[in-house]
Amino acid sequence: MYDYIIVGAGSAGCVLAARLSEDPGTRVCLLEAGGTNDSALINAPAAVVTIMPRPGRYNWGFETVPQPGLNGRRGYQPRGKGLGGSSAINAMLYVRGQAEDYDAWAELGNSGWSYDDVLPYFIKAENNETHDDSFHGQGGPLNVAELRAPCRINGAYVDACVEQGLPRNPDFNGATQYGASSYQVTQVNGERCSAAKAYLGPNMHRPNLEVVTDVHVTRLLFDGQRCVGVAAQRDGQPVEYRAQAETLVCAGAFGSPQLLMLSGVGPGAHLQDMGIDVRHDASGVGQNLQDHIDIVHGFKARADSDTFGISLGFTMSLARAIFEWRKTRTGILTTPFAECGGFFKSNPELQRPDLQLIMVRALVNDHGRKITASHGFSSHMTLLNPASRGTVRLASTDAFAAPLIDPKFLSDDDDFARFKTGSRFQLDVLQSDALAPWRGEMVFPFDPADEQALEADLRNRADTQYHPVGTCKMGPDADAVVDERLRVRGIENLRVIDASVMPTICRGNTNAPTIMIAEKGADMIREDRR
Ligand SMILES: Cc1cc2nc3c(=O)[nH]c(=O)nc-3n(C[C@H](O)[C@H](O)[C@H](O)COP(=O)(O)OP(=O)(O)OC[C@H]3O[C@@H](n4cnc5c(N)ncnc54)[C@H](O)[C@@H]3O)c2cc1C
Repeated sequence: MYDYIIVGAGSAGCVLAARLSEDPGTRVCLLEAGGTNDSALINAPAAVVTIMPRPGRYNWGFETVPQPGLNGRRGYQPRGKGLGGSSAINAMLYVRGQAEDYDAWAELGNSGWSYDDVLPYFIKAENNETHDDSFHGQGGPLNVAELRAPCRINGAYVDACVEQGLPRNPDFNGATQYGASSYQVTQVNGERCSAAKAYLGPNMHRPNLEVVTDVHVTRLLFDGQRCVGVAAQRDGQPVEYRAQAETLVCAGAFGSPQLLMLSGVGPGAHLQDMGIDVRHDASGVGQNLQDHIDIVHGFKARADSDTFGISLGFTMSLARAIFEWRKTRTGILTTPFAECGGFFKSNPELQRPDLQLIMVRALVNDHGRKITASHGFSSHMTLLNPASRGTVRLASTDAFAAPLIDPKFLSDDDDFARFKTGSRFQLDVLQSDALAPWRGEMVFPFDPADEQALEADLRNRADTQYHPVGTCKMGPDADAVVDERLRVRGIENLRVIDASVMPTICRGNTNAPTIMIAEKGADMIREDRR
């Protein structure tokens, strides 16, 4: 018997486990389907390329249902598994989104979630090695660092953005996000700083914190409309964990709605179709899926460009790099691949950016699932505030079966129009003089002036930037799954706390915002218990 059961040790779950167990009188149990993730493949930043492209021990590796907006293709949806969750396999870019994103959450009726309300939680979480001003924190668990070994194309790419009219911006998380520069990364001492490393590592010894790995939660347990814990499977055996105070679902934007629906909390008609008894008809569970659609363009480059690729020289330098990283935690194995970029507008009249660029020091082909042997560099362009809305539904009542993920990418015409504008800008950046010394031939070439060719390229190759959110959204309306204190409506002693509660996707990468949500969630839980 515990006070709190936390389901899922991802970005949010690790924060909650650490914060709630700060009180030695509170017994906390953190349950994670994956393993401990105690591996150099997780710790060495560049090793992410070995994990991200396919399902396995560290990666759920989901796929979407066929997407009409992507010419009927199935999208790929990697998700982290094991301690740290997706923060253990992500690209480590530290981006919070824009102040107005959070003001919009408050305007939707979520009091306590304006930028002024959430900034203290970003700061509380953070230990920024560079920026020390009113936007940033020192002494928090999440270490934010500069790139240790940026590639030689890095500076040229930022210069190319400036050539195309973007200002230099040394801090995307400061006064404005608009502009171009290197990204800061969630790393510490040349290693990945996942939520597990930041929040669990220093606190695993606490006698009131139990962390159980390789346990798959299959459903929530109830006494009437009160959640009393979870049923799970460990080593093929059924187990139960009971919570005296609350159960906190932190299984991510796919896992959280799936677990609620398996437990009879979800859209009544869908649950009945699946043969599941409806405990609470919550129409919003699994609705409102939002994700960042992304297109990659790439150019080959000479082997001495410092980019990753298959060549004799690089294979030898990789061997040296492994040795260097093991000895001093420096060198190219500290790269997250995604190194620099910027935020820009699809229309100069806009008040704030709606598009993002990320330069990668390798050729990215279908999430790295297909190998392009040559040295080269890529650029990702992402639509930050899509209007397209998708769903997560059950494929089966089997808790081990993947859910049906339908992001409905580019189903909104305006999304597609702005995405096109953004990709033209990306191609201009890539064709800039600043990159001329490095640029070889284009991979997947087409004539950008040919409208139809551009549209075909987007429909044929675009896919996620790995930021699904919103499937258990917070709000006061009938479709909201949780209230502004993240309590599941219609059920007692149950909260959802992770990326799924975002009512609208923030304009940036989603790890830091999820950690912020959990920091704030932990405070609300403690306040409500008093
Ligand atoms: C490849 C990739 C690259 C990314 N790059 C960046 C980036 O550079 N910067 C950034 O800010 N964001 C990035 N993100 C996004 C960011 O990492 C996520 O938004 C964030 O980690 C989500 O946190 P979460 O707590 O909602 O879910 P997760 O971190 O995914 O955690 C959910 C956890 O729940 C566990 N779980 C699920 N179901 C069950 C169950 N039934 N029983 C027990 N456990 C369960 C999972 O195994 C997982 O550990 C990236 C994501 C990916 C996948």
